[in-house]
Amino acid sequence: MVVPYTHEPFTDFTVEENRQQMLAALKKVEKDLGKEYPLIIGGERITTEEKIVSVNPADKEEVIGYVSKANKELAEKAMQVADKTFETWRKSDPKFRADILFRSAAIIRRRKHEFTAHLIKEGGKPWKEADADTAEAIDFLEYYGRQMLELKDGVKVNSRPIEYNQYHYIPLGVGVVISPWNFLFAIMAGTTVAAMVTGNTVLLKPASATPVIAYKLMEVLEEAGMPAGVINYIPGPGKEVGDYLVDHPRTRFISFTGSRDVGTRIFERAAKVQEGQKWLKRTIIEMGGKDTIVVDNEADLELAAESIVQSAFGFSGQKCSACSRAVIHEDVYDEVKNRVVELTSELSAGNPYDNSHFMGPVIDQGAYDKIMDYIEVGKKEGDLLVGGTGDDSKGWFVNPTVFGDVDPEARIMQEEIFGPVVALTKAKSFDEAIDIANNTEYGLTGAVITNNRTHQEQARQDFHVGNLYFNRGCTAAIVGYQPFGGFNMSGTDSKAGGPDYLIHHMQGKTSSEML
Ligand code: NAP
Repeated sequence: MVVPYTHEPFTDFTVEENRQQMLAALKKVEKDLGKEYPLIIGGERITTEEKIVSVNPADKEEVIGYVSKANKELAEKAMQVADKTFETWRKSDPKFRADILFRSAAIIRRRKHEFTAHLIKEGGKPWKEADADTAEAIDFLEYYGRQMLELKDGVKVNSRPIEYNQYHYIPLGVGVVISPWNFLFAIMAGTTVAAMVTGNTVLLKPASATPVIAYKLMEVLEEAGMPAGVINYIPGPGKEVGDYLVDHPRTRFISFTGSRDVGTRIFERAAKVQEGQKWLKRTIIEMGGKDTIVVDNEADLELAAESIVQSAFGFSGQKCSACSRAVIHEDVYDEVKNRVVELTSELSAGNPYDNSHFMGPVIDQGAYDKIMDYIEVGKKEGDLLVGGTGDDSKGWFVNPTVFGDVDPEARIMQEEIFGPVVALTKAKSFDEAIDIANNTEYGLTGAVITNNRTHQEQARQDFHVGNLYFNRGCTAAIVGYQPFGGFNMSGTDSKAGGPDYLIHHMQGKTSSEML
């Protein structure tokens, strides 16, 4: 028996003791900087000549680690190991598998600040955001372990006096898990253990910007009793290793979280039946967002402004759920706009090390250049109200940026920027606000700030997003409380941290016995 699931509490860093513990954890993590990390295939540590260099985005000179880099040959070796291991792992007791997750959660909880310190360094996350990332990783382990225990005996179906019928879920086979850098711990861990606890074997290809945290997860899972070959750690370039494994005839499913471009590429490639392939590959593909906060004219305007600012600039807007558009009723537009500008002006971007800035850096030079290009586009498409500047001399810092009076069809209102940039637009009515909110190809998160119950119900029906929030921001979903995933080009809506997530990694088997 396990106790019911509740989410991991966040750390209050205004408490001096917690602050001191975090500073000590950062010191501890610094001793490990610049280490080498091998691949892990079938439990074997393999070191390659070529390395991925993981750096601190707040301080480009600081190397987090030198990580061995898989190529096609090593990916093939990992596939063969995973394929072979599946023959035993698929028959393992689901309780044994769930216990590995529970033990892993306990190990991480015990060293929580150390993991958080690592995320501050490797992901450039402010303390609060890094702490939430660690908490979410723990939540996924606790939640999916419990979900597996609920599913292990299958689902009741009818039997008759002459026959006994059963319905069970069995694993699929070898899964390729491809994760992003933004929730470098939580999403990487959640997608990996969901595939594993359901009895599949896994090839884990983490984002090249943040491969070290994935190695650390492997160490935890091994310590918790995971047998060799169940999860194989193969960081490497997405194009080379990713394409090879997506195309591989022995790949049974792909669990991807990342950009729309790569997600649609994987979707297309996975659909092609390769020579020797005996199944249709399953894909779990979670992609980007262009998330909107709608502000009604009957609303708490201070709450509206705070929600926009927090959701737009938390982790420098590098969340798929980040608010990148606000659609504001014309009656209250000026008041909300002015307050958003005021609140944004109080924020700064800087090295998250001492927790003195609301925002840290963006992840790398590519992201910095892309965001600064979008800021130039924004200057032509709207009024630059605050921000618009950046500094990539030491790390990749972009100041929080707000554009006003932007046309709903403008590029900065339609394309995912994935940085600290928000565009404001005016709507004549609540109906028009919802139409504008729905006018992108995405459908991930959205929020409505209103005191009008009728408008709330209208939004519940018509605002087409996977995660809809009322009178709060549009980020910060919690595992087991707000299952997370989007519609349309935001992905397959597999709902991470939800009651039906694990089933995507399994197939239903009916057996019927004559009596
Ligand atoms: P990305 O560039 O698409 O990369 C994601 C992963 O895909 C990385 O591991 C990357 O490897 C790999 N990859 C790249 N090319 C590939 C290929 N041809 N085949 C297979 N894999 C390939 O995305 P990102 O920049 O890491 O993450 C940001 C994006 O993720 C944003 O669009 C954000 O909205 C989205 N996101 C969505 C959710 C959600 O739940 N919907 C959650 C978080 C993030 P390399 O690093 O080696 O290139």
